[in-house]
Amino acid sequence: MRLANVEGRAVLLASDDAGIDVEHSSDGKFGPGLSAIFENWDSFRVWADHAAVTAEVTFTRDQLGSPSPQPKQIVAIGLNYSAHAAESGFAAPDRLPPTFTKFVSSLTGPDAEVVLPAGGNTDWEVELVAIIGRTATRVKEDEAWNYVAGLTIGQDISERVSQLAGPAPQFSLGKSFPKFAPVGPWLVTPDAVPDRDELSLSCAVNGQTMQDGSTRDLIFPVARLVSELSQTITLYPGDIIFTGTPAGVGVGRTPQQFLQPGDELVSRIEGLGEMRQTFVSKAPEAEG
Ligand code: ZN
Repeated sequence: MRLANVEGRAVLLASDDAGIDVEHSSDGKFGPGLSAIFENWDSFRVWADHAAVTAEVTFTRDQLGSPSPQPKQIVAIGLNYSAHAAESGFAAPDRLPPTFTKFVSSLTGPDAEVVLPAGGNTDWEVELVAIIGRTATRVKEDEAWNYVAGLTIGQDISERVSQLAGPAPQFSLGKSFPKFAPVGPWLVTPDAVPDRDELSLSCAVNGQTMQDGSTRDLIFPVARLVSELSQTITLYPGDIIFTGTPAGVGVGRTPQQFLQPGDELVSRIEGLGEMRQTFVSKAPEAEG
């Protein structure tokens, strides 16, 4: 099952550009937006599994928003692939996953135009994103997938100068400029991907592949992440987890490479689709 956020309304997909409006089709029982659906995820799944999904409404890519539009929390994980930890100059984690947030003000839909912060080095990080479907506290790893509503793509866009400035890294601020958290294009339930624990993921800048990995190499896979995180924090329905990026980021290349005005970044994950961002420089401040 695939579920999209089309201008704030939940649409159950029949294809990449058509589906049924959930609120209309359920006679008002679910929706209209995805946030309300996450609050009622288990009964929504029962309804959706039996719904007649047709091409009743059509939409275009520019109408798509984040498949979780108003998460209470965005949790992001660093150094969750060994080759990426090595290229970043850090040891790979063995006990707790390195955890930070991308503040919710940075959240946007799948196909954003992003302003490059002045004086910064802005980098790409394609990531598998998990969206929570049930309140999770102290969940066991072997039950953790039951708390995941679905999977989608995320770009953990990162400004490295502010991220690494000062006595300790500023992961949360350096990764939370406006539209630095594009997510989409839609939610795909874990049963609808080829293998929820082994998905190829990649990103390309202007057509040149920069990252090309597989989620089978996650040090902390999705179920372990949900379990580990829920030992400390409560995960709420609609919460977004960025699970970490594979090797190939710009800061780890020789020579280093960062996003420039006019660049196009395309991110893909097997079974989930693709996202597309373009980058522009900051407009000059208005005078007076
Ligand atoms: Zn990341």
